[in-house]
Amino acid sequence: MPVFDRVALLGLGLIGSSIARAARACGAAGRVIASDISADVRRRAEALGIADEIAATNAEAAAHSDLVIACVPVGQSGTVAADIASHLKTGAIVSDVGSVKASVLADMAPHFGPGVHFIPAHPVAGTEYSGPEAGFAELFLDRWCILTPPPEAEAGAVGRLATFWQALGTNVETMSAQHHDLVLAITSHVPHLIAYTIVGTADDLETVTRSEVMKFSAGGFRDFTRIAASDPTMWRDVFLHNREAVLEMLGRFNEDIAALARAIRWGDGDTLFNLFSRTRAIRRGIVEIGQDSPAPDFGRPHPSLPLEPLPRPYAADSE
Ligand code: NAP
Repeated sequence: MPVFDRVALLGLGLIGSSIARAARACGAAGRVIASDISADVRRRAEALGIADEIAATNAEAAAHSDLVIACVPVGQSGTVAADIASHLKTGAIVSDVGSVKASVLADMAPHFGPGVHFIPAHPVAGTEYSGPEAGFAELFLDRWCILTPPPEAEAGAVGRLATFWQALGTNVETMSAQHHDLVLAITSHVPHLIAYTIVGTADDLETVTRSEVMKFSAGGFRDFTRIAASDPTMWRDVFLHNREAVLEMLGRFNEDIAALARAIRWGDGDTLFNLFSRTRAIRRGIVEIGQDSPAPDFGRPHPSLPLEPLPRPYAADSE
């Protein structure tokens, strides 16, 4: 039995196309109707056969749908809500997948009438790739989807949305939009900002040539380049829409990195050793709860490395 008879996905990039593939593979949606602002993306999605139907507009996809999910950069949330508001059927659930939640709530909620259940969500799963070709059905397996229902949300509607995500193989947790933004600022947004900075700084160095940076990229730098290859539009919007939480966490980070610089300057090895031992335990904890693989990740297949390739969701995790 599908959880929803008709599911509309607005935006067919990495996340939208992964939901489409997963929902059809597990039967959580009776029918998947998808739209995208780009005619080229709509054509490519049609050729890939990702959805049962590709609609020309967001409004057309949303009309008559039981669940409508906006899968667009967070800066587009208000526009999408305005596109669909007057076309939604009574009782429809509207959700999203944006990496920021308080601004999405503020931008989308005012558009919807009392007959519509608006429940923002964020699947904490992704890769550094974009577009409909990048999606895959297993993206959400064993990952977490955070629901941030407003206080007035109906429990039954929240439960049905949770059931949909669980059918896709995802664990579900509920919290306030503000708390989500603070947690994700430190677990995802600031790490991306640091990766963008390190790769940018290396690129700016005058005494080290660009080809040296690429040729001698050690594991640490290489991992940062993967994160720093993430979609520029998506991440610009994340930082512009989670400004306060990111600046708060960045302030803490700046204090801590200044303390480390002082420890290095004064030869305080104990401070460095103690911190590095604590962080190693965090990594072990992430592996123990199944959120990453313990296999050493060299990030590249090589005939002389005796490693099996990692399962896809673990190999290319971005968020
Ligand atoms: P993506 O691959 O770039 O896909 C977004 C798609 O939405 C693009 O095809 C884009 O078209 C289209 N679009 C833009 N504005 C639209 C509009 N007004 N109406 C309809 N379609 C529109 O991005 P993504 O990685 O799937 O990210 C989508 C959302 O998921 C973002 O809010 C992001 O924060 C969130 N998220 C991302 C990840 C991740 O790791 N990537 C993980 C979890 C959540 P154009 O390219 O022509 O603009």
